[in-house]
Amino acid sequence: MERITDIHIHIQPWDQMKPAVREAIRQGHEDHWEFLISLMESPSLLIDHLDRAGIWRVGLINYVSPDVMGFTDSTNDFVSRYADHDRTRLLPFGSVHPRFTDDPEGAVDRLIDLGIVCLKIHPPHQGFPANAYTTGLDNLGRIYKRAEERGLPIMVHTGTSIFPGARCKYGNPMELDDVAIDFPDLRIIMAHGGRPLRTEEAFFLLRRHRSMYLDVSGIPPKKLLESFPRITELGDRILWGTDWPSPGVRSLRHNLDQFLSLPLDDEWKKQVTIHTPLALFPDQGSEKLSPSDSVTSTR
Ligand SMILES: [Zn+2]
Repeated sequence: MERITDIHIHIQPWDQMKPAVREAIRQGHEDHWEFLISLMESPSLLIDHLDRAGIWRVGLINYVSPDVMGFTDSTNDFVSRYADHDRTRLLPFGSVHPRFTDDPEGAVDRLIDLGIVCLKIHPPHQGFPANAYTTGLDNLGRIYKRAEERGLPIMVHTGTSIFPGARCKYGNPMELDDVAIDFPDLRIIMAHGGRPLRTEEAFFLLRRHRSMYLDVSGIPPKKLLESFPRITELGDRILWGTDWPSPGVRSLRHNLDQFLSLPLDDEWKKQVTIHTPLALFPDQGSEKLSPSDSVTSTR
């Protein structure tokens, strides 16, 4: 199997999810809804599904959002346990909500203890702009600082969200300009590139800050070049992702095939789907191999 990483899918504790949000996801997935629910309880079912789709690894995006989505801090334990099934192929993403912690540094350390590989911030679902530490939400700055110190990358949602209660005004990419300036060693993955309304703003920031990466999930692959006509200028800072099974994203493989059929260089596509994700999230399994083995295995 080619070592393709889809950095952005959602396997979450759906029993915590608010009914209106669940319903928004179920629409469009009616014919395989029971299957989606069963994935939540069974990592081996997900691995089978990945095998059939020809996907090697996935980022399991989870975050704390009690008021909009229904997810509590226990989502971190959920995703860590889930990923224990296969730490090579399941990459757990977790979260600290700045308004629901008394110990931001300790909470970030705890994520690392759980083996979480990236810290997700979701401004429209968490109710603050990504630079809210500049206007009084001190805990957010402390979370960024600790993540920077510990070498833990962050992923920040940008762009709109259609879920009931989501505050889309907090999804503007420009707020990440402050974060990149104030935490220069923090690696920032900008999810969705501000789509659909703010992709120009997103592209400006991505060019400006070398610490910033673009996760293309949530942008219909056929529209990617419309949204980012000069995307190849971002070189090795783009990550493949789908946002499956969010509304409108029906299949992991279908989106990947659409991406692979774009009129762009094959090497560039390999960079996005294979090499950049491996550089940012090294394969923990291959650390045990000798250097020559790991060179061969990335081909
Ligand atoms: Zn998502």
